[in-house]
Amino acid sequence: MSIADNLARVEEQMASTCRRAGRPRDSVRLMAVSKTHPPESILEAHAAGMHLFGENRVQEYAEKHAALVAAGIFATQPPASVHCIGHLQSNKAVRAVQLFDAIDAVDSLRLAERLHHAAAELSKYLPILIEIKLSPEESKHGLAPDAVELDALLEKLPDLAHLELRGLMTVPPYADDLEQVRPYFRQLRQLRDSLAQQHPRLTLDELSMGMSHDFSVAIEEGSTMVHIGTAIFGARPSR
Ligand SMILES: *Cc1c(COP(=O)(O)O)cnc(C)c1O
Repeated sequence: MSIADNLARVEEQMASTCRRAGRPRDSVRLMAVSKTHPPESILEAHAAGMHLFGENRVQEYAEKHAALVAAGIFATQPPASVHCIGHLQSNKAVRAVQLFDAIDAVDSLRLAERLHHAAAELSKYLPILIEIKLSPEESKHGLAPDAVELDALLEKLPDLAHLELRGLMTVPPYADDLEQVRPYFRQLRQLRDSLAQQHPRLTLDELSMGMSHDFSVAIEEGSTMVHIGTAIFGARPSR
């Protein structure tokens, strides 16, 4: 199966899930997660109509970036847009702001402050999402819903004028049984609703959730952006 075939199949599944859930198809965007895949794969997806990509490592994306610029995908209409969807160390904030169009996994106040300063230096306004960790799994990044730091970050964001909060993202634990994943998606939406009420000045429209194996359930539970790698690009080589 080619990348174009895979995209067509994902698109079909998204459309049928939206119909079933009574949601307009354009209420949920598709992000192609291209981490570990070469620039050629990104260009192939772009040629098939994809404009939104996710990468999770600064160094890896830095190595691909020049090839993408040279191929002109940031000069198309609409231009390609690449989001950082992985944990970002604060000391890589400057490089990340130079490279990425948005940071979708902000998981600390310190990182937000670094990103704001880097964006201000570059006269950029940077869209961000806050990553929420809904399960106690040690390996996951993100702020817990009841973390004091989440409150502190939300209080501080209006002062970090070069950051534009758009919403929340989460990666639930893997489960074969999608009904075990559903509560996490529902919980993120409920958290968003209650935070939006507590912080009427903030924009929290975006709910970024759902990957290759669980995106249908995520859409049923209100996802506005699914991030899909394997179902588009095939299996990732082990690192
Ligand atoms: C790798 C990754 C994905 C893609 O996962 P697939 O199962 O390959 O679709 C989605 N979201 C995040 C945050 C990721 O790190």
